[in-house]
Amino acid sequence: MQSVDVAIVGGGMVGLAVACGLQGSGLRVAVLEQSVPEPLAAEAAPALRVSAINAASEKLLTHLGVWSSILANRASCYHGMEVWDKDSFGRIAFEDSSLGYSHLGHIIENDVIHYALWQKAQQCRDVTLMAPAALQQVAWGENEAFITLKDGSMLTARVVVGADGANSWVRQHADIPLASWDYRHHALVATIRTEEPHQAVARQAFHGEGILAFLPLSDPHLCSIVWSLPPLEAERMQAASDEAFNQALNIAFDNRLGLCSLESERRVFPLTGRYARQFAAHRLALVGDAAHTIHPLAGQGVNLGFMDAAELIETLRRLHSEGKDIGQHLYLRRYERSRKHSAVLMLAGMQGFRELFAGENPAKKLLRDIGLKLADTLPGVKPQLIRQAMGLNDLPSWLR
Ligand SMILES: Cc1cc2nc3c(=O)[nH]c(=O)nc-3n(C[C@H](O)[C@H](O)[C@H](O)COP(=O)(O)OP(=O)(O)OC[C@H]3O[C@@H](n4cnc5c(N)ncnc54)[C@H](O)[C@@H]3O)c2cc1C
Repeated sequence: MQSVDVAIVGGGMVGLAVACGLQGSGLRVAVLEQSVPEPLAAEAAPALRVSAINAASEKLLTHLGVWSSILANRASCYHGMEVWDKDSFGRIAFEDSSLGYSHLGHIIENDVIHYALWQKAQQCRDVTLMAPAALQQVAWGENEAFITLKDGSMLTARVVVGADGANSWVRQHADIPLASWDYRHHALVATIRTEEPHQAVARQAFHGEGILAFLPLSDPHLCSIVWSLPPLEAERMQAASDEAFNQALNIAFDNRLGLCSLESERRVFPLTGRYARQFAAHRLALVGDAAHTIHPLAGQGVNLGFMDAAELIETLRRLHSEGKDIGQHLYLRRYERSRKHSAVLMLAGMQGFRELFAGENPAKKLLRDIGLKLADTLPGVKPQLIRQAMGLNDLPSWLR
């Protein structure tokens, strides 16, 4: 039987960030991941899953020593953002230099971030990567948690971190209640070639029942799209011929970048909001999608998860250096309170946006367009909005 201090179930982006952040703390860490990531091919076409990484996550990834290798792979810096309501005057635009920033964020393939963290974790002396690992059982004892793997091996840990994504096995086995709701949207993702260069601007159009984001990639004529649509419509768009798809896409996007055409396959993800009633329990902490999932309309899901990681790293390091039991719920409550607060604000914000921008009711449309116009023109509003989007209001003190 192997013994560690921290057993992280799920070696995705967030779980690996926690592992790398604990290196050097004196805590022995194991990451149990069900699959082994493949190295990235430099000449491969951009992957379909990308994330808009904000300044707060950039700070964490820099601190973890992976930011330069992410940039050396493939990352696309964006300098502007534009959001508009189709067929109306509602529009807001942000530009980094006028707000005093060098950039607003980066669009990065999830695999690039994941692999950089995986390689870093491999180099961490205090971290053991156990992959592929298939979990059979977990039991929470008074002083330790006991994990049994399907191959019969066992592991004990003083705290288990559930970082195993939206359908978290750990959350279910710990009987943590979950609030969940259907966003009545599926997200269609694809890579699109644009006639005009994207000029490093992230764009998003609200149209009828849909939300269409064009995220600029390193190639000035390639964007990754996240097109949130009612489920049947998303399935219809996935099955449509390339020609019909391109036509619908160009209409929804107001031909903002000239004629756009599909460059990749299309994949569809159902969107569900989730909120675990507890982010911590006796010898347990949940991070990332295991604790919460949100609509991708503001591109904040993994950014929120990275800040969970940052807060948990700080909490576990502090408890350990003070000689306290890192698995006591009493001590993990501070982590739970702080992260629940951020998650609730984000979930409520996304819900508000989702409701306000749903449908073509003329009164609602007028209200949101006036809101966008006011936010675009009133002094002092944009700097606050951009600070929020960059995650600068949600940074744990040690990263500030
Ligand atoms: C269409 C779409 C677009 C998005 N765009 C953005 C964006 O622009 N910006 C942003 O911030 N967020 C975005 N998100 C959200 C973001 O992708 C997620 O929040 C993020 O991937 C969650 O990371 P995670 O590490 O918590 O979970 P995951 O990425 O789900 O990782 C979980 C890991 O756990 C492993 N695992 C699962 N079960 C087990 C088990 N039983 N045993 C062992 N291992 C297990 C999995 O193999 C995986 O490696 C988007 C989401 C969607 C659907």
